[in-house]
Amino acid sequence: MTKTLLGRLMYGKRYNRVPWGQRVYVRPGERLIREVQWKRLIRNAPIMPLADYERSRPLGEIEEFLACMMCGESRQQPLFEPTGGNGWRYHVVRCPSCGFLYRNPNVRPERLGDLYATGYNSFLTGKYAANRQRRYDLTMKAFSPVFDEGKERRLLDFGSGVGLFLELAEQRGFEAFGVDLSPESVAQANERLSKAKTFHGAPEDVPEIAAGGFDVITLWSVLAHLPRPLDDFTKFRGLLAPGGVLLILTVNARSLLLKAYGNGWSGFTKNHLMFYSSETVPTLLRRTGFAGVAFAPHYGDTIEAGTTALPEDLRRRLRRNVELSDGGNMMRVLAFADEEAIGRWGGGPLTVHRFA
Ligand SMILES: [Zn+2]
Repeated sequence: MTKTLLGRLMYGKRYNRVPWGQRVYVRPGERLIREVQWKRLIRNAPIMPLADYERSRPLGEIEEFLACMMCGESRQQPLFEPTGGNGWRYHVVRCPSCGFLYRNPNVRPERLGDLYATGYNSFLTGKYAANRQRRYDLTMKAFSPVFDEGKERRLLDFGSGVGLFLELAEQRGFEAFGVDLSPESVAQANERLSKAKTFHGAPEDVPEIAAGGFDVITLWSVLAHLPRPLDDFTKFRGLLAPGGVLLILTVNARSLLLKAYGNGWSGFTKNHLMFYSSETVPTLLRRTGFAGVAFAPHYGDTIEAGTTALPEDLRRRLRRNVELSDGGNMMRVLAFADEEAIGRWGGGPLTVHRFA
């Protein structure tokens, strides 16, 4: 309400036709305003010992309190309390040491299944499927030439859902495998696919996958759902062949939309547990044995696909503000297993940050 009013006072109706998700990137001066607001929020929010924090929050049956998984810091800085349909609500804290954002209390790993009620995959079809596949295509393009030609390279899609990405991967010539925790999704995926195969369960439960030797592992909108990311990434690193890479698409905790809309941010969905940025995802990768990382800024699907209605000058401004703030709404990451991987795939427009 107040934010809408603020927008009207400052900008009149000039930007009303710009979609909500693009407005903060194109209105003059808004990036700086939102960044100042964010700094003020961080400066003013209290920081408390974990024990005090635990006393101040209710703990659900499937939940547990956590310290920061990235750096081990136990102190808590409560920042957000997003809510949504059917009455879900959770608390998001910031780690005062490394800036990691995470849900606290979080969901106990053994109760993760409780989040995914039946009917979860019913929305993964139709227009949603087309939009998803467009997003996969655009992200693969951003990391060209890694995905240009499969050439029988082994690819694992972790959290492969109904197989929308595996379908593209097999078309490009990858020897593609998937795993997913939903048996219904796996069944649906195997109907869709001709050569690629998906399995129900964890990678270590499936002999074809546990054998490892993967050239590429992909995590499409999966990272934010992992309750034990360090364990999972140690496993992924072990499954990669020399020269292998791992791709991540996840919501960006430095998004300008988060800074603008707070609790109302689109990244705070019911089943998201942790929120990464270019500041925190390197910690996860370094601690689990990866050699380096590269990022591809996310300008939004309609911008990148060229279907946006924004005029050229606003498109330029949007791109500039995404880059200056590192604030695209999604984060796209390519992680390199070793020096060989950096040598093979690290050239072109990508800037590789080495951990050594
Ligand atoms: Zn931390």
